[in-house]
Amino acid sequence: MSDRILVIGSGAREHAIAVTLLAGRTVNEVFCAPGNPGMALDGIHLADLDTTDSAAVVDYIHQHSIDWVFVGPEQPLIEGLVDHLTEAGIRAFGPTRAAAQIEGSKDFAKALMRRHGIPTAAYATFDRLEPAQQYVREHGAPIVVKADGLAAGKGVTVAMTLDQALDALEQVFVDRRFGQAGARVVIEDYMSGQECSLMCFVRGEQVWPMPLAQDHKPAYDNDKGPNTGGMGAYSPLPQFGDDLADMALETIVKPTVRAMVEEGTPFTGILYTGLMVTDQGPKVVEFNARMGDPETEVVLPLLTSDLALGIRTLMDGGEPTFTWRRDVSEICVVLAADGYPGHPDKGAPVPLVEPREDLQAYYAGVDGSIQGGLTAASGRTAVIRASGPDLRQAQERIYGLLDDLDTSGLFYRHDIGHRGLETL
Ligand code: AMP
Repeated sequence: MSDRILVIGSGAREHAIAVTLLAGRTVNEVFCAPGNPGMALDGIHLADLDTTDSAAVVDYIHQHSIDWVFVGPEQPLIEGLVDHLTEAGIRAFGPTRAAAQIEGSKDFAKALMRRHGIPTAAYATFDRLEPAQQYVREHGAPIVVKADGLAAGKGVTVAMTLDQALDALEQVFVDRRFGQAGARVVIEDYMSGQECSLMCFVRGEQVWPMPLAQDHKPAYDNDKGPNTGGMGAYSPLPQFGDDLADMALETIVKPTVRAMVEEGTPFTGILYTGLMVTDQGPKVVEFNARMGDPETEVVLPLLTSDLALGIRTLMDGGEPTFTWRRDVSEICVVLAADGYPGHPDKGAPVPLVEPREDLQAYYAGVDGSIQGGLTAASGRTAVIRASGPDLRQAQERIYGLLDDLDTSGLFYRHDIGHRGLETL
């Protein structure tokens, strides 16, 4: 076997996926569509392709003798790219449009959890302002208001006061801030606890878990500032033992994938469960139908087995092997352009980092070229990862490197991993 694989996507997550696939014994070449110029540093081919045009994707796959496709981001999954490719006789790893609703509609996910008794916050769904206002007044704060559809992570308001909740409802129904995504809202009870992410390879009712990871959403140190798509992550989590992951697997992930099969929308791909670790055990904050970004950038470097072979075996109906290092800690820090997440500035130079086993840059929103230099093209420009024998040493290594790089015009958090370190 000498596979040629196409990865759909352009972010640091897809860079990490492509690098990990390329390391596989059976892999010859990895293409990324549309990818980004930073990926060339690792020998990944960029496919100049409009990934929203599924006929063009199919043509490209035939022209370049691609064996199979890994779909990275949620948008093409929710729009049914896997269904289109499958109809064209092309093997693609990721959920169908029907199964990707678990991420594409919060109402779909909440209703599934309610029907199957999967632990999550109690909720109600509304498509009109007045009954939503009444529900919020009756329940009081804190309470959480979520736009139903995809809103690029910006559709959620955790309202600590009644006024904040009412304001969020006005933004959805009166200002139409989220357009179609906000035509409905899910209002749910506030859950308190620490959050973490559990990603699993899934085929129907079968699951193969990855190590737990933790993201840091707020833009600035000490969890201050606006929420972002994520500013850094680390894995494994010293504060949570195997028992937490096992409990989440047994009480949440397995019942969820069983429910998807029973309801006629079986899920194959990667199911991401955002967990809140509450006093009553882990509960679901959200599901995603793909890998997390930046969690992927710390979890995949822990994989000791062959990712491409594992996924191929999974797709072929065999018994895949996924094994993970337990003797190191991985950490990653996002280099964001000044102004992110509001109006990121373009043009700042983004440093090049030569990959080593314990250190690697995964690029995201960059323009330019490896030879001429990379520059910031959007908010998250690069994700730098490092590993160490434990979280503290991994953290020292990453900040030792970052503090030596020229990062003018960019910013990053200086406290990634703080919750894990507090428990060491
Ligand atoms: P979501 O897009 O549903 O993951 O929500 C974004 C963020 O809002 C989560 O990562 C949590 O920090 C927070 N959040 C969502 N739902 C709740 C909840 N029911 N209780 C407390 N915080 C929540």
